[in-house]
Amino acid sequence: MRSVPFDMSDAAPAMKSIRHSIIRAGLEALYFSGATRLLRSMFGGAGIIFMLHHVRPSRGDAFQPNHHLEITPEFLRLTLAHIRELDIDIVSLDEMHRRLTTGDLSRRFACFTFDDGYRDNRDHALPVMREFGAPFAVYVAGDFACGHGRLWWVALERVVGNSDVIDAPIGGIDTRLDASTAEAKAQAFATLHDWLRAMPSDHEVASAMSDLCRRHQVDETAIAPELCMSWQELTSFAADPLVTIGAHTMSHCNLAHATAGNAEREMAMSRSAIQTKLGLPADHLAYPYGDRLAATARDFAIAAKVGFKTAVTTRPGMVFAENAAHLTALPRLSLNGNYQDERLLTVLTSGAATAVWNGFRRVDAA
Ligand SMILES: [Zn+2]
Repeated sequence: MRSVPFDMSDAAPAMKSIRHSIIRAGLEALYFSGATRLLRSMFGGAGIIFMLHHVRPSRGDAFQPNHHLEITPEFLRLTLAHIRELDIDIVSLDEMHRRLTTGDLSRRFACFTFDDGYRDNRDHALPVMREFGAPFAVYVAGDFACGHGRLWWVALERVVGNSDVIDAPIGGIDTRLDASTAEAKAQAFATLHDWLRAMPSDHEVASAMSDLCRRHQVDETAIAPELCMSWQELTSFAADPLVTIGAHTMSHCNLAHATAGNAEREMAMSRSAIQTKLGLPADHLAYPYGDRLAATARDFAIAAKVGFKTAVTTRPGMVFAENAAHLTALPRLSLNGNYQDERLLTVLTSGAATAVWNGFRRVDAA
């Protein structure tokens, strides 16, 4: 999970809504200025790695706090058509790696990557990718494919969705959160999400979530099998020539919270699980969460040591020729479900928004 433009998981809902408006207004102003063609030549870089999670038809529910993690099949189709219209090559991660390491960058490229191994990637994304003959990668977390991983952000959505009031020891203080309306639910979700993400260890997140699930009648063990492809399903999915399976650690852990030894084990085991269960190489990695709080220079070095050819973060950015020296710290561009608008796509793929975001630095691998 994660998002751009841009990650707002640390902002309160009112502030988020203001920031959404400012970002949208800024992106729209750029679009209407007609400057995107010029900007593209300046900031577009060698290519783009798109980050996606769920692809599925939209739902009408008022409370969808994880909505940034899903786009519709129609918007995926629109994005692919947009990329084709810009005459950008849609390539596999192996081909991106070849181009970057040999300096074959005369044509811009785009990679499509999907995190977590959701079944809707097979049911809703694959048919659209086939329409375009477009290769793509799905990063699989071993425990999700085994059916016993914990997708705590989904469990939290269900806890809040189920309840009118939620008690939690936030910051060590017993706190009662109102969750009686869609607005109150959004606020409660944000408060609880921030509380959980600030915890120093994944173990504490898991135990706080289990406690919430128990008290609010949510079966957290049912979520991974409900949403994620099993190893058996992945076997036939991975047989499609368009599909690359990448690693996403075993437990979908926050690597920055793990010791170096555990971080290495998480990466190496998820790599060998794919090799063993699917009989396929697993040369590419996505860091879970993937922002600077979850993947650091130490982890970029470990990923290279474990033998991954590339590894992607959720740091927003275009891929530049200079990234060839930092292949395990690649930036991505999120296809965010809150911004499913072709005009914004024009600006995002120009690289202008991420250039501003990154203070015009091309590489961010520290
Ligand atoms: Zn993930």
